[in-house]
Amino acid sequence: MSKELDILIIGAGLSGLAASIQCALSGHRVTVLESAKELAEIGAGLQLTPNATRLLLKWGVYDTIRGLCEPTTCTVYNYKGRILAHEDHFDKNNRRKYNAPFSDCHRVDLQQALVRKAEELGVKVVLSARVVDLDFDVGEGQQKRASVTTEAWKTYEADLIIGADGLWSTTRSVFLGRKDSPLPTGDLAFRIVLQLKQIEDPKLRKMVQEPGVRFWAGPDSHVVAYSMRGGTMYNVVLLVPDDLPDSVARVEGNLEEMRAWFEGWDPVLTQLLEHVDRVDKWKLMHRAEMESWINDQSNLVLVGDSCHPMLPYLAQGANSSIEDGAVLGLLLALPHFKSKHQLPKTLRLFQKLRKARGEAIARETFKQRKDFHMRDGSEQEARDALFLRQLGKELVGAFPSRWTCPVVQPWLYGYDAEKEPYEIGRLSRMFHHPVINMIFRS
Ligand SMILES: Cc1cc2nc3c(=O)[nH]c(=O)nc-3n(C[C@H](O)[C@H](O)[C@H](O)COP(=O)(O)OP(=O)(O)OC[C@H]3O[C@@H](n4cnc5c(N)ncnc54)[C@H](O)[C@@H]3O)c2cc1C
Repeated sequence: MSKELDILIIGAGLSGLAASIQCALSGHRVTVLESAKELAEIGAGLQLTPNATRLLLKWGVYDTIRGLCEPTTCTVYNYKGRILAHEDHFDKNNRRKYNAPFSDCHRVDLQQALVRKAEELGVKVVLSARVVDLDFDVGEGQQKRASVTTEAWKTYEADLIIGADGLWSTTRSVFLGRKDSPLPTGDLAFRIVLQLKQIEDPKLRKMVQEPGVRFWAGPDSHVVAYSMRGGTMYNVVLLVPDDLPDSVARVEGNLEEMRAWFEGWDPVLTQLLEHVDRVDKWKLMHRAEMESWINDQSNLVLVGDSCHPMLPYLAQGANSSIEDGAVLGLLLALPHFKSKHQLPKTLRLFQKLRKARGEAIARETFKQRKDFHMRDGSEQEARDALFLRQLGKELVGAFPSRWTCPVVQPWLYGYDAEKEPYEIGRLSRMFHHPVINMIFRS
């Protein structure tokens, strides 16, 4: 039996495209079904961290992303503008520590670079193909095939379906057999993209042109800002308590309301907000942890936001989704992957490797919220004292900003998705061992 699989990926977002590239590199036939008519500018900026850029480099995608900005500094201010933490040479430090860059880009520029690579590798990307139903019991035999039906009543069949359809995943609901909607986190994001040409003030222009990551931490809210498209655009995200009705996930925001929330904050930030002529308001959602990311028939696996969405407070949603795709594709290429009958074991390994990490990162994003959103008071004073004791010094131990924290940062950025399957390769040689077998069956 051929070891090549027909793989169908639902969603050409970052997890789906990453999975498509690694699965194609592993020798499989891959089709991606995407509901959108075109890959347009959905969302705005994305911070890419070394755990994902090392994969993008390996695939030859990194250098093809338009207008990447590598921030040279990372600074946390309190909401009045006092520096709480600052790292110079942030770009060089990341490259030195993790052998891969920390970079900022526009989401669509990354998505288009991934599509180009996927298509180069023979992946078929089908646009305007919204999946509305799935069937996991197609054909005869022990290892069943699966099929999907699109809105246009087209049916596709495959040995393996990868559900990469994001936060509002249809795949997840069909798999669970019930409508399963995302849950509010209690926060929303005002998303802003400023063009350099909109800004006249020389100090603010310099801020956009000289890439640095900036955070402002204040009561119940925080702000993150960074340059993209070669310093010609500035991405600003304002994170505040959610006041949108339950039924509204995204809407155009009101500029006056946005500015009012940040009244009295650092004048640099409020001046910047004066230049904004359009803002989008996005409800930030998450989901309960799932019992399993794979189905009983072992012909469906979920990746990315469909199974581990998180708050964007550590910029790991896309980065960890790219990790998912890479690990899955690599596991399917291991020397032990000889036929589709090995899918149950391979998917169990994937889940074993990825579920704990994806969910742990999601939980960590809520801890970052707590540390960035403190109201004025004794807890905030203790946090600021912890920040300020280490200002200008080498950081030691747990730190309230996980972006430079010497404990959390290596866990996030030091992860090498490529090494996971090698580690498992070592384990798989022991697979006949009854105890190891039992662990992976659990
Ligand atoms: C304000 C904000 C800022 C963020 N910043 C960062 C950041 O800096 N760094 C970072 O790593 N992450 C960031 N994230 C998170 C990141 O955007 C997501 O985690 C990431 O996009 C998830 O990738 P995905 O492929 O799983 O889902 P998506 O990127 O959402 O892709 C899902 C795809 O599936 C398609 N689709 C959906 N339903 C169907 C269907 N039925 N049939 C076919 N196709 C379908 C969609 O059109 C879409 O293209 C941020 C999120 C927000 C809200």
